[in-house]
Amino acid sequence: MTQRIEEKLYTLRWRHDRQSHIAIVDDGVCLTRCGTEWQRPCTTFCPASVYTWDGAKIAVSYENCVECTSCVLGCPYRNIDWKLPRGGFGIEWQHG
Ligand code: SF4
Ligand code: SF4
Repeated sequence: MTQRIEEKLYTLRWRHDRQSHIAIVDDGVCLTRCGTEWQRPCTTFCPASVYTWDGAKIAVSYENCVECTSCVLGCPYRNIDWKLPRGGFGIEWQHG
């Protein structure tokens, strides 16, 4: 039986940090170059919908990150500074 991504995400649990492990390096690149040339692919390739365009910049819901590392390679301008969550935070356990 195959599961949809939304169903798989529902099986994950997180221990949320107050401190983000993700930062946008330069909001201007998202606003101009990436918006024109790439249509901001982070808003579609992230399986957890961490990145959303709010009309002026990329909003980052780091709490939802599933640590797949896709954004390390997926941002065409290497404009995402992604690190593993600090020790003890992030995905805590999963099943399914
Ligand atoms: S893919 Fe990278 S450069 Fe493009 S909007 Fe997202 S973070 Fe910004
Ligand atoms: S590591 Fe994966 S889940 Fe986390 S922000 Fe990047 S693409 Fe999204």
